[in-house]
Amino acid sequence: MPKTYDVAVFGAGPAGAQCARELAHKGYQVVLVEKMSNFLANNFSSAGSVYEVLEHFDLPKSTISSYWKSIKLTSAGTEHIWTAKRPLGVVFDFAKLRKFLTADAKSTGNCRVLLGWQFSSYQKTDDSYQCVIKKDGQTSMGENILAKILVDATGPARSVLHYQKNKPRYVSATGIEYLVQTDPLFSQSFGDATLQFLLGQHFQPHGYAWIFPMGDGIYKIGTGGYNDRKTKTQSLKYYIDRIIKNYLQLKKYQILDVHGGTVQFRPNHQEPFVDGKIVGVGDAVSSVNALGFEGIRHGLHSARTAACCIDEYLKNQKPSLDHYQRLMQQYFGRKWYWSYWLSRLVYMQFGDNTLDKIITMLRLLTTEELVEILFYYRFSNVFKLVFRQLKTLFK
Ligand SMILES: Cc1cc2nc3c(=O)[nH]c(=O)nc-3n(C[C@H](O)[C@H](O)[C@H](O)COP(=O)(O)OP(=O)(O)OC[C@H]3O[C@@H](n4cnc5c(N)ncnc54)[C@H](O)[C@@H]3O)c2cc1C
Repeated sequence: MPKTYDVAVFGAGPAGAQCARELAHKGYQVVLVEKMSNFLANNFSSAGSVYEVLEHFDLPKSTISSYWKSIKLTSAGTEHIWTAKRPLGVVFDFAKLRKFLTADAKSTGNCRVLLGWQFSSYQKTDDSYQCVIKKDGQTSMGENILAKILVDATGPARSVLHYQKNKPRYVSATGIEYLVQTDPLFSQSFGDATLQFLLGQHFQPHGYAWIFPMGDGIYKIGTGGYNDRKTKTQSLKYYIDRIIKNYLQLKKYQILDVHGGTVQFRPNHQEPFVDGKIVGVGDAVSSVNALGFEGIRHGLHSARTAACCIDEYLKNQKPSLDHYQRLMQQYFGRKWYWSYWLSRLVYMQFGDNTLDKIITMLRLLTTEELVEILFYYRFSNVFKLVFRQLKTLFK
């Protein structure tokens, strides 16, 4: 007889592992199934986030590589740095973050973790789902599990929600990142508490590049962009190599790892978040925000919201799981759409001269105001900026 669980979660990214963690802490019997056999195998995310995420999701220091308290924007012809006295955010160690969330779920005694297994198929029975999971590369029958509720946390694959269904069209963007060990002299002069974004065709056509500190002289140097560009460009690696050679002028360095990934999303969230008793969390329901492709915090939030809705449903306080989609749509509001629209302008439309002018204008914003735009999508600050610019003109 297959073992029965309250909830089967597929995918142990930040969203799936957090959802399993929340449900296991609430006392439900959970199985967490992850395709990869270890978290280093798909260590693809730059994993920058804001400081509040730590307290909000009770994340320990062991998940953090570094703290940042400055943001630097650079274009072909100008640059500016915004600094705060206290840390404004963190760069996670993406592997350690997922490892912690999974271990914490397991430590409750209510969550079975299966690494190296993947969702293969499901069949609906009267009051549960019978799922087949298979070990990587396995061609035989696999193993059966029974669960009352399924959570699709498979990221852009959306393997469960779209099982045997046609997928809608998604916007897609791809990023690649080098983990680079620099020499101590370089890191002393460059600093290790700044998130740096390099904008414009000069650095990365149809996208942007970034340099995130990881501590101990290690940096994540990456580039990424939209995949629907009409003109041909060089490979993403070509632009990273150029940044290392021409912009950073690194002479002595070691590439410790190369990783990357693709995000696929619907800017308007016109896709099902719930199908019967199947719930999608994280990137499986387009929670990544297109402005800076920040998805970890929003994935964690969707996981918590889904776990609350599942809890209410299993306690018979709600007749279905449908209110989850409503709650998530309230969270996104119009901000995700405007972020997408702005990212298309900045990454795809604006030339280097325009971006020089924009960065010059953004200097009128305080650090907090810039953070509010980049991480909280408060675009009303853009109006403040225009007002301040007009004031300087009429002085
Ligand atoms: C290059 C790059 C840089 C990024 N930088 C940042 C950043 O700086 N800050 C930030 O907040 N976000 C960043 N993001 C986005 C962020 O990483 C994602 O939004 C986030 O990881 C989404 O979490 P998730 O759990 O929804 O999905 P994922 O992290 O994609 O996890 C999905 C999991 O499901 C597993 N899986 C897939 N199919 C199956 C299956 N059939 N069965 C079982 N398991 C399966 C996968 O192996 C994976 O572990 C970046 C993304 C990329 C690509």
